[in-house]
Formats: sequence, structure tokens, C-alpha cells
Amino acid sequence: MAGIEEARLEDVPLEWDTPLFHQARVQFEQALPYAAIAPAVAERLRYPERGVMISVPVRLDDGSTTVFPAYRVQHSSVLGPTKGGVRYDPEVTLGECAALAVWMTWKCALLRLPYGGAKGGVRCNPKELSSAELQRLTRRFTSELLPIIGPQEDIPAPDMATNEQTMAWMMDTYSMQKGYAVPEIVTGKPIALGGSLFRHEATGAGVVMVTERACERLGTPLAEQRCVVQGFGNVGGIAATELVAKGATVLAVSDVSGGVHAEEGLDVAAMHEWVRGRGSLAEYPHGDKISNAELLELPCDVLVLAAREDQVTAENAARVEARLVAEGANGPTTVEADEILAERGIVVLPDILTNAGGVTVSYFEWVQDLGRLFWTRDEIRAKLAEKMADAFDRVWELAREREISLRAASLVVAIREVAAAIEARGLYP
Ligand code: NAD
Repeated sequence: MAGIEEARLEDVPLEWDTPLFHQARVQFEQALPYAAIAPAVAERLRYPERGVMISVPVRLDDGSTTVFPAYRVQHSSVLGPTKGGVRYDPEVTLGECAALAVWMTWKCALLRLPYGGAKGGVRCNPKELSSAELQRLTRRFTSELLPIIGPQEDIPAPDMATNEQTMAWMMDTYSMQKGYAVPEIVTGKPIALGGSLFRHEATGAGVVMVTERACERLGTPLAEQRCVVQGFGNVGGIAATELVAKGATVLAVSDVSGGVHAEEGLDVAAMHEWVRGRGSLAEYPHGDKISNAELLELPCDVLVLAAREDQVTAENAARVEARLVAEGANGPTTVEADEILAERGIVVLPDILTNAGGVTVSYFEWVQDLGRLFWTRDEIRAKLAEKMADAFDRVWELAREREISLRAASLVVAIREVAAAIEARGLYP
């Protein structure tokens, strides 16, 4: 990494200073020269507008009380309410939430959603908490957030170890305070509470929409591509199904238990069936067993990274044999690996573009809740496809015009959107 950026990052206040925030700042500083925005506007985008630290007391099932540290960071409210997930994780920090909030700002701006970015979390080990404890934790955390969340202020969503049920508890807690149902306070809710059709499939389907468009531009139709998918959860599992539906061959997939490989192509529907019954791909009886490290290095056309952060690194990037890497996960390619892949001519479809289907359908959910008018699955799929294609085209054109990576172009497009709004609003007072 160039020394100039390191020097510029010395100003990072201690509270935000984590490796992940550092990564988000380096990306921002690298994109700035291309974004060409006013220095005063750039300065306003470097740090979150607001970050709160909360101590959440929870009565455990054994009658004792534990206080959990919790956070919510709102990066930019210039375009509208802030939007972002809530994670329950033993490692979560204010600085990590800050980085994730920054990325949410860019993701929303890139998709032209009228939102800024936010992220929150509770530092806990969700695996050690009962469902009743998780419910009390969620309700108390939501109560503590009341002064800073709202359908026009900040709209939470699920993230690591939180799900539809967590959102239902948040919605209920908020609604009980108001005295009437407020479904638009969270997204990723159960359908019964105003959740959106196609939200569950949105991120994985969006990954494939972006991949298909990139393949078209590269003159290599998706139906002819041989694909490898890391991660077989919400994003990877749906992406694998969508790839097969488009006629592509999925020759390997993996989850945390390891991978399965078959050169002639896997029966993805049968694998879903297996995972539904057994919980993981371990012991899946067909294909060859491979490790996750081997999976990343398989010769293929498209590698979909849909597991977690830091998977392609300086250590293994030189051995990646794909032509196209699609980032379904957040931050799966490190800054160093990005450079190695670029030198080797491997095209990376960046996370803030590629996995934006989830937040886009979250936006559709909020719009439907506010309007009390619900759309069909096909309508939502079509609206998502339109938004993903529009964002992809703007990024692709800028990348070609300025001869920069798709990641840099995504950031530049997003930063310009937010900067234009800041310029137009001016500085209060
Ligand atoms: P998930 O928990 O449903 O699935 C994760 C999958 O990855 C599981 O199959 C798990 O076994 C597997 N996995 C975990 N560690 C692994 C490893 N080291 N090697 C191989 N596989 C591993 O989670 P998800 O919702 O699919 O999210 C995956 C990624 O996508 C995360 O980075 C998340 O932040 C990102 N993302 C998710 C959404 C969404 O709407 N779900 C939206 C945007 C981004």
C-alpha cells in the first residue's frame, strides 16, 4: 500500500480505528482522485455522522443479569434514512460497524436507493443464548435504540446471526412503543408482518444478474460458463440455483464443512435437499470431496465468493484459476489480493455492486410497507433486474472510460452520488 495513504490515515480517531475501517478508508482515498469531489465534501464523508455505544442489560434464563456492549453507527443521512443490518457476534466493535456503515452508504448510493449507510451489532455469542434470551436481548437493544431509529431515520435489517425472527421482535418492540403497527421500521421481516416476496432470494439472484451482464459484456454467455460457488447459505445457495437455471454448469460448491466437486456438474437441487435434511454438505454422497482452499483454486470461468470476508488473500490470489470473480460476500477479496488478480487479468465484480440485491429488495419492502400496497414476486424480480442492470452499466462504462477496476469505478460512481447531494444541500447552518 502506498505510503501517502498510510500517512492520510493517521487522522483516524481511535474509536473507529479497526482493520476493517482502515480497509474502507484506503478504498475511499484510492477512489477520490477519480471522483474529483470538493475536498470539504470528501472530508464530510471520511467519518460516520454518528456512532453510539450502548450497554444492554439482559436477564439470563438462570436469573442472573449480563450487560452486553452494543453499537449502532450511521455514516451518512444526506440522501435519506440510514439503512443497515444488525449483527450478533462476539467480535463486533464500533470500528467494524463504522466500516460496514460506510460500505452501506456506497452500496445504497450506487443502486440509487434514497438511503445512507448504517450498521449495528451486539457483542455476544448468539450460540450460547437461548431463544428467550435472544428475544429479551433484541427487545432491550431495540428500546435503547429508540431515540435514533425510525422509518424516516434509520431502518435496521438482519445481518450475521440475526434473521426474520429478530426483525419481528424489533418491529413489535418499536410498534408497542408507538401504539400501532409500524412494519416499515425494519426490513427482512416475515411476510406475515409486511416482509417482501423475493427478499430471501434477492441477494443470490442479484449476484447472478450482475454476473450474467458481465459475461455478456465479455462476450462469454453465462449459459456456457463453468462456475464454482464458495458458501451454500442464503447468498451462495440461491446463486448456485440461479446459475443452473440460466444454463451454466456448477462444478463445485462448498460450505463451512468443505466442498464437493464434479467436473460434469453438480445436482444443485439435490444438494439443497440434502442440506435441508442434514444441516450441511458434510457426508454429501455424490461428487469428490475437496477442501475450501482447493475449491478456490479450481480451474473455472466464474468463481462466486459467497461465504465470508478475507477468502482470496495475498497468499492464494496467484493460484485462483477463474476468469471472473463475483463477490457475493462482503469483503471476500483483500486489498492485496485485488491487486494480484488485476495483474493477472482476472475481472472482479465488487461486493458493493454484486451483492446489492438484498438491500435493493429491502428498499422495495420499505416502499411497499409505507404504501401498504404489495407487489408480486415477478414484479419485484423485474424491478430488481432493472436496478442491478442500471448500476452495472454505469460502473462498467466508467471503468472502461477511466481504465480503472470495477471496484474503483463502483466507489467512484457511489461517492459522486453522495457528494452531489451534499453539494446541493450545503452545510448547515
Ligand atoms: P449464510 O450464513 O446463510 O451462509 C454462509 C455460507 O458460507 C454457509 O453455507 C456457511 O457454511 C459457509 N461458510 C462459512 N464459512 C465458510 C468458509 N470458511 N468456507 C466456505 N464456506 C463457508 O450467510 P449469507 O447470508 O449467505 O451471507 C454470506 C455473505 O454474503 C456474508 O459475507 C454476508 O455479509 C454477505 N451478504 C449477505 C446478504 C444477504 O442478503 N444474506 C446481503 C449482502 C451480503
